[in-house]
Amino acid sequence: MQKWFMHVDMDAFYASIEQKDHPELRGKPVIVGGDGPRGVVSAASYEVRRFGVHSAMPLAQAFKLCPHAVLVPVRMSRYIAVSHQIMDILRRYSPLVEQASVDEAYLDATGLERLFGPVEGMARRIKREVREATGGLTCSIGLAPVKFLAKIASDLDKPDGLSILYPDRVEGFLRSLPVEQIPGVGKAMRQAIQELAVRTCGDVLRYPEAFWERRFGKAGVTLHERAQGIDPRAVEPFTPPKSESAETTFDADTQDIAFLKSWLFRHADRVGRRLRKQHLQGRVITLKLKYADFRTITRRVTLEAPVCTTESIYETACSLLDHVRLEGKVRLIGLGVSGFDNQPRQLSLLLGEKPDREKRRAKLDNVMDKLQDKFGKTSVVRGRLFQPPAKSKTRP
Ligand SMILES: [Mg+2]
Repeated sequence: MQKWFMHVDMDAFYASIEQKDHPELRGKPVIVGGDGPRGVVSAASYEVRRFGVHSAMPLAQAFKLCPHAVLVPVRMSRYIAVSHQIMDILRRYSPLVEQASVDEAYLDATGLERLFGPVEGMARRIKREVREATGGLTCSIGLAPVKFLAKIASDLDKPDGLSILYPDRVEGFLRSLPVEQIPGVGKAMRQAIQELAVRTCGDVLRYPEAFWERRFGKAGVTLHERAQGIDPRAVEPFTPPKSESAETTFDADTQDIAFLKSWLFRHADRVGRRLRKQHLQGRVITLKLKYADFRTITRRVTLEAPVCTTESIYETACSLLDHVRLEGKVRLIGLGVSGFDNQPRQLSLLLGEKPDREKRRAKLDNVMDKLQDKFGKTSVVRGRLFQPPAKSKTRP
């Protein structure tokens, strides 16, 4: 049976939602982003992209390129609500839907022709349903016999696009496809490839697989496969996270340890809460610091027993910070938890088998989480957080 992968990608998602919700912004160069003097562009409308503005660009630079752009704050909960609507539509077509980000998903469309007719008609129907359900938002859809080509295809005809790569076209398409369009080809690899005078997937095939493997290891083998249109990956309906993290860029660089630790506590609480929601616990705690000159260091430790309590994550991160000799002012601090147990366990089970201290901490977290779920995030604040740290931007 012919395999079909569909990649659905919303067009300028955050910016389009803002333009839809605020009609006065329609047709205007809109930047969604914030906040503070060091904010970055989270999303850019098509009107502002013409000026060279793109996401992840510092706001200061964006406003130099387009001084009359309108800045709108990020309203993540609104975008997530719209995202749910879109994913619900996709799940009506196939149980195999993999949400790749808030505005992007893969759908395994293999065999669906029998239910919905040819893939082209099905894609058009999905586009129409998305537009109707969201009050006018457009998406671009790519269809191809393998996953990575579906993603490339969805980008070919943006916005409001539909690109279908039929199996008999794949070879010709790949021959002239620039290598950097293949997802996963990083900067280092790109440079090395340029030195080899390899520009397209066709060029990649001039060298045998063994050559690529020697040069780039596993990534080289993958490149050689992709250049032939091979991609064994399936659509994965749910991928559990490999790590949970939070980080903050400060408005002003600092070397104040107490201040840094207060942020570690906030992040530990945020990350811990997310872990507990998913019944996950991790063994590896990572501290990340970015200095004023953008040098980044990470420190990590693997614990004997996995943790998910705010207090344990915080303590571990603090001890990592205590072992760092700061080499200047810090502009960003972050922390992450990874190394999850394969089998997520119920919190109640956790409570039963932990040593006393962890048990006590888990109980406190449990109470806090329940109160916050019921009455909102600001309803109960831990003593340590009572004095709000100076304003800055936090993600995610
Ligand atoms: Mg998108």
